[in-house]
Amino acid sequence: MSRFWSATTRALQPYVPGEQPKLPKLVKLNTNENPYGPGPRVLDALRQATGESLKLYPDPESTRLRAAIAAYFGSVDLRQVFVGNGSDEVLAHTFQSLLKHEQPILFPDITYSFYPVYCRLYGIDYATVPLDEQFALRVADYAQPNGGIIFPNPNAPTGRALALDQVEALLVANPDSVVVVDEAYIDFGGCSAVALVNRYPNLLVVQTLSKSRSLAGLRVGFAVGHADLIDGLNRVKNSFNSYPLDRLAQSGATAAIEDREWFERTRQAVIKSRHALVQELAALGFEVLPSSANFIFARHPQHDAEKSALALRQRGIIVRHFKLPRIEQFLRITVGTDEQCALLVAALREIISA
Ligand SMILES: *Cc1c(COP(=O)(O)O)cnc(C)c1O
Repeated sequence: MSRFWSATTRALQPYVPGEQPKLPKLVKLNTNENPYGPGPRVLDALRQATGESLKLYPDPESTRLRAAIAAYFGSVDLRQVFVGNGSDEVLAHTFQSLLKHEQPILFPDITYSFYPVYCRLYGIDYATVPLDEQFALRVADYAQPNGGIIFPNPNAPTGRALALDQVEALLVANPDSVVVVDEAYIDFGGCSAVALVNRYPNLLVVQTLSKSRSLAGLRVGFAVGHADLIDGLNRVKNSFNSYPLDRLAQSGATAAIEDREWFERTRQAVIKSRHALVQELAALGFEVLPSSANFIFARHPQHDAEKSALALRQRGIIVRHFKLPRIEQFLRITVGTDEQCALLVAALREIISA
């Protein structure tokens, strides 16, 4: 605390990201990064962008990248795509431009913990809606006056996906609110709501290149929605930072969106490893929530989650544990390579039998 801090700064409760330890040889399964890394086409594009041209500002509108994203989906045009410095930045602008109204916004009680942080930053009222006993989102529970709705699909940290007809039911029931679907993990098993944007002017879908496209280090995310929503985001972006994506990010991200083959191969590999990992953990007595993401959320009826996380850590494996109501007995484990998953399972077997 400093006397030079503004009242706003004093009132903030910043998000705490999963740690990025510098230890060598760590099996890092705590922040849902993709174990396969970007493909050679992306690395080539980054090398090409590294040169004399860095003296020039990048395209403030990231036109090539937005065109690549529009072409990837096929059903939307350039004016329906917004890009930002990670989807966290896209979400931040979304809270400020589309979710700040009279009524409180709604999101699940167990969800991405950045949402309440943005609410505090921008002075937005919110109310949480409890997930059901099986940690599923029930659309009927959102039938209450609201200034907007936001949720991840699949949800984080549960990994559970909401079916597209349920997303649509939410849009139909809330025609006067913006509904934001944060699809950070959609490519690992969910059904994207981008298919609905041309029918629902109140729908904004946010995605990231950090997970399914292995580019967490490049910081690129995007939103797709009605051109009027995108215009709102642009007003905030151009009042904050007109060049959020540098030249390298624009080039690498464009190549990543265009390289469908690498994307398909790596995401299928993650899905396959997830199925195997779920089986192995179930065999050890873990209860695993059905996951459509690149992580699983699991608890063991006889073993305390915090202790297990600590014991894993002593064996050089880090996973995420949230000391929060309802989920303090769960571990969130990123699906790594098959080799990493095998190390995890072996360590858990040892911890459980000790
Ligand atoms: C990882 C994640 C994001 C943020 O991703 P960026 O790296 O900022 O693009 C957003 N929402 C959820 C639910 C996430 O898990």
